[in-house]
Amino acid sequence: CGGVEWLRVVVDNVSKVYRVGESLVYALRGVSFEVSGGEFVSVLGPSGSGKTTLLLVMAALIKPSGGRVLYDGVDVTKFSPDQAAYWRYRNVGFIFQLLNLIDFLDALENVIVPVVPYERDWGKFVEKAKALLDRVGLSDRVHHKPFQMSVGQQQRVAIARALIADPKIVFADEPTAHLDLETGSKIVKLMKEISEEKNVTFIVSTHDPEIAKISDRIIEIRDGKIVKER
Ligand code: ADP
Ligand code: MG
Repeated sequence: CGGVEWLRVVVDNVSKVYRVGESLVYALRGVSFEVSGGEFVSVLGPSGSGKTTLLLVMAALIKPSGGRVLYDGVDVTKFSPDQAAYWRYRNVGFIFQLLNLIDFLDALENVIVPVVPYERDWGKFVEKAKALLDRVGLSDRVHHKPFQMSVGQQQRVAIARALIADPKIVFADEPTAHLDLETGSKIVKLMKEISEEKNVTFIVSTHDPEIAKISDRIIEIRDGKIVKER
């Protein structure tokens, strides 16, 4: 089935300047593009090109120095921290490059973590979390802690966690960077399948040609600017 028409993301002339002591780092320099609901988009670029910064700005985790990010016309860069956090909870899944799983929680608990601040009765989410762990192929690792799992399995937990609140859009920051080719390619296939099954938009930063290959669209950035779109 096709994309969900109601999620249109417009990245409009976004710039980001980091200040480090006296010096300025221009991480994004006027980035503009649009994404439709259900698209699988990869953001391709060498290390330092601005991929992570772009994902963080799009997910309203950091504010840009200029420009706007509109979701169906709503500019999320104007949100207060609380508004942004709640908006993220309702709309966004984020798979961080370093995963950010919590060491002392098992897989199931890690998947439920995002709902805890927002749902009074988060016990309701246990079955859903189990179903998601099953979907990512971890039904036999529900009570394993991160250190008791391979990096590929931890990546699957992070994917399940990103899906717990039925996001409309999922960001994944270099999801195969720490994986061998075979494991990486399984993870890529899983994300692509989930994107199609659940009609979720995926924005994936990578230098992995495997991810680029299965993407609906590739946005190439270099030094904070889009150099190619295909
Ligand atoms: P990528 O994910 O493509 O490697 P990043 O978005 O992490 O690129 O970084 C883009 C540029 O911004 C790099 O030059 C990086 O050093 C710089 N940068 C990233 N985050 C920060 C930060 N928090 N403070 C200062 N500079 C940063
Ligand atoms: Mg990065």
